[in-house]
Parts: sequence; C-alpha cells; structure tokens
Amino acid sequence: MTPNLTTDLHPAGHDATQAAARVLAGGGLVAFPTETVYGLGADATDARAVARLYAAKGRPAFNPLIAHVGDLDAARRIARFDERSLRLAEAFWPGPLTLVLPKAAGCPVSDLATAGLDTLAVRVPAHPVAQAILRAFGKPVVAPSANISGHVSPTTAAHVQGDLAGRIDLIVDGGPVSVGVESTIVACLATPLLLRPGGLPRADIERVLGTKLTRPAQDVAADAPQPLAPGMLASHYAPRTPVRLDARDLRPGEALLAFGPCPLAGADAARTLNLSTTGDLVEAAANLFGHLRHLDTAGASAIAVMAVPDEGLGEAINDRLRRAAIPQH
Ligand code: AMP
Ligand code: MG
Repeated sequence: MTPNLTTDLHPAGHDATQAAARVLAGGGLVAFPTETVYGLGADATDARAVARLYAAKGRPAFNPLIAHVGDLDAARRIARFDERSLRLAEAFWPGPLTLVLPKAAGCPVSDLATAGLDTLAVRVPAHPVAQAILRAFGKPVVAPSANISGHVSPTTAAHVQGDLAGRIDLIVDGGPVSVGVESTIVACLATPLLLRPGGLPRADIERVLGTKLTRPAQDVAADAPQPLAPGMLASHYAPRTPVRLDARDLRPGEALLAFGPCPLAGADAARTLNLSTTGDLVEAAANLFGHLRHLDTAGASAIAVMAVPDEGLGEAINDRLRRAAIPQH
C-alpha cells in the first residue's frame, strides 16, 4: 500500500510555487510550510487526492481536515459566515485561527475532506509560501501536518523528507517554521465553542467576540444538557438509514454498499453502489461518504455494507463505517 513516487524537493520561490500548483491540479500531494508546521497539501475538491493524502500519512481514521484558502473572499465561497465569524476572520486572518462554519451551498470541498459533515473547517494561513501556493492554485487545499500519522509534526523540509519521501510528489522547502503550535479552532455554529486551543490565544478571540468561549465537554453530541441544532456538534457522519456491516446476504428492502468485483446477489440496481469494483481502497475511500449519502436517500430499510479489508486505507474506511452504523440521536 506504500505508493512509490519520486519526491522532488524545491527551494521556495516562483518555480516551486508553479510546480506546487501543477501537482495539486493533477491530484498530487505537496508539502509546504505554514506558520504552524509543514502541511501536506491536496486539492480539497478532489476526493481521490484527499484519499491519497490519508494513505500517504497512514492515518487509521478519516478526521475532518482544514480547508486552506488565500483570503476571506475565497473562504466565503465555501463556508457561510455570520456577523460573529466575519468579525473573527477580519480580525485574525491571515493567521493561526481555524473557523468551523456551515458549508456554503454548492461548496466544492469533497465529502471525504469533511468526513461527511455539513460543517467545514477553514483557515487563511499567513506564511508567505503557503499564501503563494494557495493563490497560484486558486482552489481550497487541505493540509494536515506533513508527517506519518503518530509521528511528531515537521518543522523543516528535512523532517518531511524523512517521513514522506517516496510517498508524496513535492516538498517546497521554505526553511524552518516557527515552533509547531497548531491553529486555534473555534466553531461558530450556535454558541461559539473553542474546539482546540492553539496559536491564537483565547483571550484575543474573546475580546473580539465580546463574550467568553465555551469549551465543549467530551462528546457533547451524545448527551448535551441543552442540545444545539441537530448534527451541529456530531463528531462523525451517520446516515438516517440504519447501516448493517459485514453483510454476507441481502435482506428485503435493503440497499447495498458493495465492495469488489462480486457484489452480493439479489440487489436492486437502483439501490446499489460499489465503493470500488476493482477492490482499490483509495478509490473506495474517495467514494465512501458520497455513496453513503446517496444510498441514504434510496428509501431503503437499511444499508447493507459488504466487508472491506482492514488494511491500508481500509482501516480508516472501517472506522468510519462503524461510526456510521451507530444510530443517530
Ligand atoms: P489538523 O489538520 O491536524 O490541524 O487537524 C484538524 C482539526 O480540525 C482536527 O482536530 C479536526 O477534528 C478539526 N476539524 C476539522 N473539521 C472539523 C469540523 N467540521 N468540525 C469540527 N472539527 C473539525
Ligand atoms: Mg498532526
């Protein structure tokens, strides 16, 4: 499952920026410096590219990723701002603040990048190399830290090379970045919530908001005393239709989420989708949330899901399938 790519290393500059934009446009992976740590970038609107990113990092789960854009105008095309979130963006962007907002109508960011959620984490980074690449590419870029999952976040191009050489297309070397403090994440959905403390101090945000930030208790979604709007804090996507895992047969009224060349017999073609007919796990990951959403609208009694091997991206696919099978509250 280890991709065997030639990883180019370019010093930051005009040529590297153009090369990075080309690689992103071709669905490839580029590591570049941000003001927090080196990020591993992929076209946020291309599910295959995002699936490759998860594979390169060896992530065992699909956590929703942050979409990076060059400026507030670009952010407003993919997320819905209200008066408060607009004030935060105007005060702190570009910089180490990530806002979690409702997705804009027609938001082109792939479901895999948001792990199927209807909310989107978005940030305008300040680092000049990140800025140049985002402007040259012109589309949102997901960019988690450029390291193998479980390793420390990289602060130099050499760190990135040590972890990801042979697994990504390009590393843009912009020199060492300031110590790896991640961005502060604030959800602006109902009451503003501090989801992750980070590089931007909480007090600065509270001053601009004129109110205190709440920290969600662990797993607010499960048993919040005052439920917010449904699904707003849910940390994972789940269809409304029940999901039945490891299906070996098909029951009456069920839709089928198949995997591999031999889908279960007896399925109604209109209610069947295949994650990958060739058993390709990168393709399966790219299709996962879109297929679930589609089958959720089929009016089926349940979605029967064929087994997916628990190797490579299969581990993350199975993690999300198990969460999708937990009944919605
Ligand atoms: P990283 O890219 O490694 O800095 O991590 C991204 C962080 O953003 C993770 O902690 C995610 O759980 C969080 N995140 C991204 N999108 C969302 C979202 N829609 N709702 C809540 N948290 C999010
Ligand atoms: Mg990380």
